[in-house]
Amino acid sequence: MPRLVMKFGGTSVANVDRIRNVARHVAREVAAGYEVAVVVSAMSGKTNELVAFVKDANPLYDEAEYDAVVASGEQVTSGLLAIALRKDGIKARSWQGWQIPILTSDAHGSARIAEIDGSRLNGGFARGEVAVIAGFQGMHAESGRLTTLGRGGSDTSAVAIAAAIGAERCDIYTDVDGVYTTDPRVVPKAQRMERVTFEEMLEMASLGAKVLQVRSVELAMVHRVPTTVRSSFDPPDAARPGTLICDEDDIVEQQIITGIAFSKDEAQITLRNLKDSPGIAAAIFGPLADANINVDMIIQTVSGDQATTDMTFTVPTADYERARAILDAQSATIAFGQIEGATDVVKISAIGVGMRSHAGVAAKAFRALAQKGINIRAITTSEIKFSVLIDAAYTELAVRTLHSLYGLDQA
Ligand code: ADP
Ligand code: ASP
Ligand code: MG
Repeated sequence: MPRLVMKFGGTSVANVDRIRNVARHVAREVAAGYEVAVVVSAMSGKTNELVAFVKDANPLYDEAEYDAVVASGEQVTSGLLAIALRKDGIKARSWQGWQIPILTSDAHGSARIAEIDGSRLNGGFARGEVAVIAGFQGMHAESGRLTTLGRGGSDTSAVAIAAAIGAERCDIYTDVDGVYTTDPRVVPKAQRMERVTFEEMLEMASLGAKVLQVRSVELAMVHRVPTTVRSSFDPPDAARPGTLICDEDDIVEQQIITGIAFSKDEAQITLRNLKDSPGIAAAIFGPLADANINVDMIIQTVSGDQATTDMTFTVPTADYERARAILDAQSATIAFGQIEGATDVVKISAIGVGMRSHAGVAAKAFRALAQKGINIRAITTSEIKFSVLIDAAYTELAVRTLHSLYGLDQA
């Protein structure tokens, strides 16, 4: 029998009524002849609440205990969905990550899946049961402790399970009916895409589109799992197909730019009046790398005095204070005049595989932003995307400007 993985996010399982609705979507696929594994998130808001409890108990919490607490949201919804399915006469049982088991690294709070043994799930399918799997959770084999996969990690559980059981497809059900050209909450004129390439989806997710966790797209790409994003709010008897994430060859009409993403998770640091000598970049970025701080955008410019240099770069907002402290501690070796920083910045990115074969795509954006009076603080480009760092106050204006500029607005 063909197999299918269906994943339902937090808003799709927000209460018992919504869980009953999910059961009807599952029933449709069972009736269509699939062996179904369902992956569920915690009820919306639940994980945030659990994280807050942990931080309240001790801001310097133990990370393994953090996982023990935050993984519990998914235990509740997996059990409830199995109950709802059985009420509708469908054989089902819940599975926690450790029961399958889903083995992960020991990086508590952001563990990576190492291995999934599908044999116990296969036993369940042989008994005619729907497998209702708690997303987001795994287990570290050596310590035997529970782990979680990072925020939004149920997407990754779903794709990894699809690969492990040889599912025909992985359907990610959420509160929007597909992947849009940008976040539809910010740009009402955003358009749903029929198809998007794995590569573009990977960039969109990494650059801020939180509709899929980045790691889930990586896994879908590596294991070639056809993955869709679709709405759980569609009536179960008339569910639409949503957006298919697939290979470039499967896309007939290709745009130059397919999507715009934005992320407020970055902060800017500028070191002024650095002595411009060999080794300066190594002296700055070496200690940050040693502290596991990811530096993203980097620009070096001549200082106002024409004799020294300024270095501007971005780090994740969560690491901002730590990065500043590290640089302050190195001030004797690095010898900078001043250190400045900003957290009220946003990184706006445009993504499209068509950029590979078209010149001047980014230049057009710089001009359009300048015309709106938006100052660009830093720029990065790569083969299929470019990003600009601007003041956060201009987020909506900049996203909308680029969205129209590249012809993505809905008619
Ligand atoms: P779930 O709880 O189902 O995992 P998420 O909140 O994680 O759902 O992801 C869905 C949300 O992602 C949507 O409500 C939407 O606001 C946001 N989003 C951001 N960028 C995009 C995009 N390009 N296309 C679709 N949704 C997007
Ligand atoms: N419940 C977890 C979170 O909110 C995992 C998920 O929903 O994907 O991050
Ligand atoms: Mg999500």
